[in-house]
Amino acid sequence: MAIIAEEYRELRPRAPMPPLDVRFRRFTSLNTTIRLRDGQLFIRLSDLLQDAPESVHHAIAHILLAKLYRKPISAAHSDRYRRYTQSEPVARQAERIRQTRGRKRISTAQGHQYDLDEVFESVNRRFFHGLLGRPTLTWSAHVAKRMLGHYDAAHNTIVVSRVFDRPGTPRYAIEYLLYHEMLHLKHPVRVRAGRRCVHSREFQAEERLFPELDLAREYLKRL
Ligand SMILES: [Zn+2]
Repeated sequence: MAIIAEEYRELRPRAPMPPLDVRFRRFTSLNTTIRLRDGQLFIRLSDLLQDAPESVHHAIAHILLAKLYRKPISAAHSDRYRRYTQSEPVARQAERIRQTRGRKRISTAQGHQYDLDEVFESVNRRFFHGLLGRPTLTWSAHVAKRMLGHYDAAHNTIVVSRVFDRPGTPRYAIEYLLYHEMLHLKHPVRVRAGRRCVHSREFQAEERLFPELDLAREYLKRL
């Protein structure tokens, strides 16, 4: 924090100091971000940089601030930062963490209670004649209650909240959730008169074919 303030002074001697919000985050890479919002500076640094020498922290602060305020980046600072991140131990550690955290994030279709691939195939057979191509199915990293499921078209992935992966979850609830997301697969989002139509009339009509629709919706509401 003090280092950021020092570099800010250096770069903008007469400008008032904005409030600073500086945090280390668990990034999968040597990621750093800087944002100016409502007059406040938000800086997020990879926790991989937490143990870096003070001179490297100065270099990072300088580079981030110079970028943000469109000032020339000092060669000494950028050299220092590059030498540090490319140094053998740091590069190796970054690579190791990227691999282990990256793998964790991709997660798996096999949960404790339900196997999403298996549920998908049974819903596929029952309602779609087995015709839907199976996207990547994965449990969410966290027990999300607001985002129960979503279909990510860009990555052809259905993510299901972990909240369903427990013994008390009725089969119809997880089936309904997947059924809904599979309808998104079948009915891509359309743009009509400039508006995104996510749940079209055909989508909704087909959704009503799910036998335990009311029960399932009740269950989801109570989560
Ligand atoms: Zn939807």
